[in-house]
This record gives sequence, structure tokens and C-alpha cells, in this order.
Amino acid sequence: MGYDIKSMTLEELKRGVEDLGEKGFRAAQLYGWMHAKLAEDYDRMTNLPGDFRKRLLDTHPLIRLELVKMQESALDQTRKFLFSLGDGNLVESVWMKYKHGNSVCISSQAGCRMGCRFCASTLDGWVRNLLPSEMLEQVYSITRITGERVSNVVVMGTGEPLDNYDNLVRFLQLLSSEGGLHISQRNITVSTCGLVPQMRRLAEEGMQITLALSLHAATDEKRRSLMPIAERWSLDELMEACAYYFEKTGRRITFEYALVGGINDSPADARRLSALAKPLAAHVNLIPVNPIRERDYRESGRLATETFKKELEKNRINVTIRREMGRDIDGACGQLRRRHLSEER
Ligand code: SAH
Repeated sequence: MGYDIKSMTLEELKRGVEDLGEKGFRAAQLYGWMHAKLAEDYDRMTNLPGDFRKRLLDTHPLIRLELVKMQESALDQTRKFLFSLGDGNLVESVWMKYKHGNSVCISSQAGCRMGCRFCASTLDGWVRNLLPSEMLEQVYSITRITGERVSNVVVMGTGEPLDNYDNLVRFLQLLSSEGGLHISQRNITVSTCGLVPQMRRLAEEGMQITLALSLHAATDEKRRSLMPIAERWSLDELMEACAYYFEKTGRRITFEYALVGGINDSPADARRLSALAKPLAAHVNLIPVNPIRERDYRESGRLATETFKKELEKNRINVTIRREMGRDIDGACGQLRRRHLSEER
């Protein structure tokens, strides 16, 4: 199967352009229009011959997203976007403004089949994988709408990125490519619930991205109660894959740990988590769980959270508590899309 034109690498584009009877150098121009200047249609690509633009339009329609809804937080300047894909499927993306630059959180699939108990994105199951161009367009559309440069991209929206492996890697390469937005791979984070074989494969891609592992529990038993994927891969296997990733890439892993009141937030949990993080020099990111209507998980109290963090610090683990952003606008994964879908029904 061939990819759509916006998912093609520059090399593939060169061949495609030549197949259309044009000179190879047109490929770089076309690539620049799509991926650096973020042109929305061929009409704007003014230095390309008119008949070439016409042929492109007939043979290679450009993938675009349609903005369905935008919400801006009154608390911070976080904005949440709901986009419609060409086939009507909906995905959501988030734009966050930080002192050091703007960050975009994108979705990698429409729906998700991982089934994590606390997550809204998976409640309606998996619909389909997103194309590289559909992941890129989330970043591009937001750049066009806000008029501001994006410096960081996190693949932490709806979907399991490593369950859409080939499209993800292609997306990462296009996003960081010199002729495109050229976002530094060090400023890109991919978050996974822990698909062991794909984590190992990713380690071998020669990329400098940050891998974040959604750990959420430090024993197999607790992890299984929160995440079905833990039935497939044990913590031992997962930690071995993390060690392999660290060894191959030299990049420290981030452990994401959503604190759920009374479930995984005891000092003993913190000690077990320290023991997992220590040998990997992993960074631990504590996230207050964002309760969703469909489940009765609740946040850890302030004291439990502080005690948990102190316990990690005592063990010299590099730990941060994630600043919550956009909580007033359905900030947690999949909440906006889900609310929109149920309102439509
Ligand atoms: N599938 C990937 C990426 C998407 S989820 C993964 O599992 O990592 C992005 C992060 O948000 C994950 O760490 C996920 O566990 C977390 N998350 C999902 N629902 C949440 C909720 N209700 N509260 C807090 N964190 C949540």
C-alpha cells in the first residue's frame, strides 16, 4: 500500500514527482510547502507550475483535519481541540503554553484497545490507526490556528502509539526532518502502556526521543488490576525492555505514575517504585489521577501525595508532580471526544 502524499518521506516524494513527469527538485519544494510552510492546499504552492498543481490535486488529495470544537481553559491558557478526520472519525489534541515553549499533545489512534481501567479513551474501544499525516496535521492545524511555533510534541493523547508502530515512526521522522518543522527529537515524547516487543524495536530506530512508560503500579498484581496489558507482560519483562532502551539510546526513561487514592499511593508502593526506577535512573512523573465518570477511582489526598513524593526523594529518585492543566476543559485523555460522541447520540 502506498502512503498519502503528506505521509511520504522526501525520497519517496522524489520518486512520486518523477512518476508524474516532473523534475526531482520539485519534491523538495513540495515537501517544504507541506511540512515547513504548512500550506493547506496546492493553490498556495505558488512556485510550482500550475499544471503540476492540477495533476497533484487530481491524483493526490491532501489530508486535512476539520476543527469541530476548541475549548480554552480559564485557569491556564491550555486549549483543547477536537478534530474530524476525513472519514468523520474524531480525535482530540491539546495545546499547552509553558515558559520554555509551546507543547502539543496528539492522538495516535481513533479510540484505543488497551483497556486501562481509569482511562476514558478506551471505553468505546478501538476504531482505527491514524496515518502519519493525520498525526502531523494535529500539530500543523494547531500551529496555523494559534499562529505560534510548537517546540514540544508529546504522543499522549488517545491511542497506544506503539500499537500503530510503523505510522508512528514515520510520523516522528517527518516531524523532526530538516525540511519540515524540524522539531528536535529530544523535544518529542512517546508514551506507552508497555508493549514490550515494540519498545525493544523502538530502541533500535536510532532516534533521540524520550520514551515514557505508563507504569502506574509497582507490583504485577496491582498493575494487572489497573491495566490489562500487564497480564501479557510482567514487570520483569517490562523493566528489561526499559533497560535495553536506555542502553541502546542513552535516553532516560520516564515513568508515569497516576496516583489513585487507596490503590497505589502507599509509602510501600513508593518504595517498590523507587526500586524499579533506581537501576534505570528513570525520571518519575506523578500524575494526580483525573477521575472519569464511568469509574469510581479517586485522587490521592494531598498528604498521601506529598508523603509518596518524599519517599521517592529519600531514595534519590528524580521525581516531579505533573502540573495539571486544563482540568476545566476535559483535560484527561479522551474525555472531550467521548462527551462529544455521547451528546451526538
Ligand atoms: N497509550 C499510551 C498513551 C496515551 S495515555 C499510554 O498508555 O501511555 C497518556 C497517559 O495518560 C498515560 O500515562 C495514561 O495512563 C494516562 N491517563 C489516562 N487516563 C488517565 C486519567 N483518568 N487520569 C490520569 N492519567 C490518565
